[in-house]
Amino acid sequence: MLRGMMMDRPLLVSSVIDYAADVYPDVEIVSNTVEGGIHRYGYKASRERIGRLANALIGLGVKPGDRVATLAWNGYRHFELYYAIAGIGAVCHTINPRLFPEQMTYIANHAEDTTLFFDLTFLPLVEKLKPSFKTINTYVLMTDREHMPANGIAGLLCYEGLLSEMSPDIVWPEFDENAACALCYTSGTTGEPKGVLYSNRSMLLHTFFLIATRPDLFAHNRTILPVVPLFHANAWSLPYITPLTGCKFILPGAKLDGPTLYDLMETEGADAGWGVPTVWLGLIDEFKKKGRKPRNLRQILSGGSAVPQAMIDTLTRDYDIEVTHGWGMTEMSPVGTLTVFRPEEQKLPPMERAKLSAKQGRRMFGVDLKIIDEQGNRGAHDGEASGELFVRGSTIVSGYFNNEDASRKQIDSEGWFGTGDVAKIQKDGWLLIVDRTKDLVKSGGEWISSIDVENAALACKGLANCAVIGVPHPKWHERPLLVAVKAPGAEPTKAEILDVLGSKIAKWQMPDDVVFVDALPMTATGKISKKDLRAKFADYQLPEQAQG
Ligand code: ADP
Repeated sequence: MLRGMMMDRPLLVSSVIDYAADVYPDVEIVSNTVEGGIHRYGYKASRERIGRLANALIGLGVKPGDRVATLAWNGYRHFELYYAIAGIGAVCHTINPRLFPEQMTYIANHAEDTTLFFDLTFLPLVEKLKPSFKTINTYVLMTDREHMPANGIAGLLCYEGLLSEMSPDIVWPEFDENAACALCYTSGTTGEPKGVLYSNRSMLLHTFFLIATRPDLFAHNRTILPVVPLFHANAWSLPYITPLTGCKFILPGAKLDGPTLYDLMETEGADAGWGVPTVWLGLIDEFKKKGRKPRNLRQILSGGSAVPQAMIDTLTRDYDIEVTHGWGMTEMSPVGTLTVFRPEEQKLPPMERAKLSAKQGRRMFGVDLKIIDEQGNRGAHDGEASGELFVRGSTIVSGYFNNEDASRKQIDSEGWFGTGDVAKIQKDGWLLIVDRTKDLVKSGGEWISSIDVENAALACKGLANCAVIGVPHPKWHERPLLVAVKAPGAEPTKAEILDVLGSKIAKWQMPDDVVFVDALPMTATGKISKKDLRAKFADYQLPEQAQG
């Protein structure tokens, strides 16, 4: 081998905020604060505070490799923690506050967190959980002196107090780019949560790969609002992408309802929103009430679960908003595929493009995909063969943090990661996620995709949301049950829904029954919890059985 003769400089997260401070000093980060009111500053001012925070962390005894946990909403202090922690070589462990308390305890103890930074909202929660945290010795409340509680956690530190005593000057240490910078646990829909430990290198590569795959999403002067939380899967890399590309960054804080999001998008001129489909339902309701969308909004990036065709159609047709659909996993940093049009597709009329956007997209640069069928053979990329989707790339986990058992189960002999999703890949590269393996309805030896049936049902105007689960059936093993939520003011009947479905899916895929509920159970990451639904309807008697 003839080695190249280029400098071998490490790819470090800290370089991103330095670049933004240098090149985009006045581009703003705007936050809806937990204390109330809006906070705004530019990337240069942010970098100064990150320097103070990094010095404070060193003063608190945080060492390279230590796990520093956060329990926080999308706000500027959380953003600062991302950089200050990684900058000194420690690991920013974002904990999802929507998890069950026992899961948070498990995660903090498993990660061996040493320090916890948390928003005011979580003070009562932290007070309650503190006795169960075995390794955390420092607690910092992410607020100013005015909002510090009179009593409560002994020795509780104040974020702004710490910063005010520190110098903003810091020369970032240099270390191996493979050093860990962040940790995020999966929500544990099967078994205990598992830790995904990202490196400085993987984080920057993921950032570059995403920008390279869809540069238009981040062209200068964009104003991006992540509803996707900073506590989940690195908020899809936005905390790194926005400073790097000079985008204005709007952090919505704790309130993520339609009216609050609408107002923030309107006043700050957001032109793009990123989040899971359930969030957009609330926002679309607000569009309808107001009779228009927020003035600049023209793009929504939706991922984390399948985006229903009906939602894409409404946003495209009624509001001239382009939907970019992404598929990924915490284990993939998280993006695997996203809507990428070829030039000839780009020229199609918007409603034709909207059809393509319901697919899960084409692979992001740096991500390889393969399909493995039930016999363990590779499936063709022909849009027909389906099987478990495996992925490979430098932004994908090689194993879980301190969990050899789980690691062994999910990495195959060729070193690919098994996603647990069943998929097809078309000849022209579009990925179609059929279902999660465990959500497929197994009926008489055939698989029914719950996603397909839900998508078809949501074309029924009177439905706000729905989910399909398999319920036990003596003859067919399982049959699909549609659990539906009515749209406000609408009274759809079972017959109407089945009528709409009948024109869209095959007879054997039709749900055996429709049940109306007020709301669907949600997971900690804003997805419909099929696990909870299955438990709720475990003994459900389908009509035919009931009669028989
Ligand atoms: P969790 O929410 O369980 O913590 P992730 O956010 O990592 O974990 O979820 C990843 C899973 O979400 C994927 O394996 C897939 O099943 C599902 N998913 C993500 N995006 C999509 C999408 N666009 N379409 C269908 N399923 C998706």
